[in-house]
Amino acid sequence: KAKEKGRGLVQFYESHWQQEKEEKLRLDAKLRQALAGHRLDVHYQPIVDSSNGLPVAFEALVRWNDSEEGMIPPFKFIPVAESSGLIREVDLEVLRMVVEDIRQWQQAFGGDLPFTVAINLSAIELSADHVDRLTEVIRSSGVAHRLELEITESLMMQDTEESVKLIRQIKAAGIAKLAIDDFGTGYSSMGYLKRFKVDKLKIDQSLVRDIDHDPSDRAIARAIVALGKALDLTVVAEGVETETHQGLLCKEGVPLLQGYLFARPMPGEDVVGWVKERRRNGPMHVCPI
Ligand code: C2E
Ligand code: MG
Ligand code: MG
Ligand code: MG
Repeated sequence: KAKEKGRGLVQFYESHWQQEKEEKLRLDAKLRQALAGHRLDVHYQPIVDSSNGLPVAFEALVRWNDSEEGMIPPFKFIPVAESSGLIREVDLEVLRMVVEDIRQWQQAFGGDLPFTVAINLSAIELSADHVDRLTEVIRSSGVAHRLELEITESLMMQDTEESVKLIRQIKAAGIAKLAIDDFGTGYSSMGYLKRFKVDKLKIDQSLVRDIDHDPSDRAIARAIVALGKALDLTVVAEGVETETHQGLLCKEGVPLLQGYLFARPMPGEDVVGWVKERRRNGPMHVCPI
């Protein structure tokens, strides 16, 4: 009897596993089609200067609105694309769309943009040919000095000569900044910050979320700000949702803030209007001086 039961359980897990695998394959094939048909889009979320509330950058976030399934969120398809390798095409497509959007915004502004645009780069496989393709697009874009790249800590931990070389190659293409995303959650060996010539640290939103009732999260935020000062890196807090978050991050001296409190990610068409209105309204006292 017990044996039968055990077998049933194994079958249950096997079929569950099989189903998950099939679902991933299905999603991956669908994503491939969406890429081929240029049906992905990018939304942009502002990062504001905590001294005046003005946007200093926008983060580009990929969006996939499927005709049958509606919005498929990044947390569903990015891991799938990372395991199949398709993420490289996603990142390249996002880079191209961002370059195109920047060009249009420059026309609307009648000159260079008063902000930079950050792109997320998957760290899964940073191979030489992929970096060659990325740097080629960046170099020929004419807007490299307005681009930032965000990479998560995990890649930096592959602290090999090869990855140091590749990261330096991307920076040499003329990008404005290299940021470490989700900082403070991973491994945080500090050595790589120097070797990779990092410019910016993004305090992970999990640390911001509980900052009002978790003293250790607050201490970590304070330590990251101190690290930024010591190494001359700028610091952003992401996931700022409430006035309480904002107040505490101000007290810790975080210079840049990003989160729903300021704006949700918006379509590219809305960016220029949003920036102009912010500038028209003049400086806001996000953090008391
Ligand atoms: P991330 O790079 O850390 O981006 C921040 C995520 O937090 C975004 O989710 C953003 O919409 C969300 N967010 C912003 N403010 C708040 C807030 O106040 N509260 C909360 N709860 N969330 C907030 P999104 O767009 O769903 O992206 C999730 C992740 O997917 C990103 O995390 C990034 O790792 C990845 N991703 C997004 N676009 C791309 C892309 O083009 N390429 C790659 N490789 N990864 C991407
Ligand atoms: Mg990011
Ligand atoms: Mg993050
Ligand atoms: Mg668009």
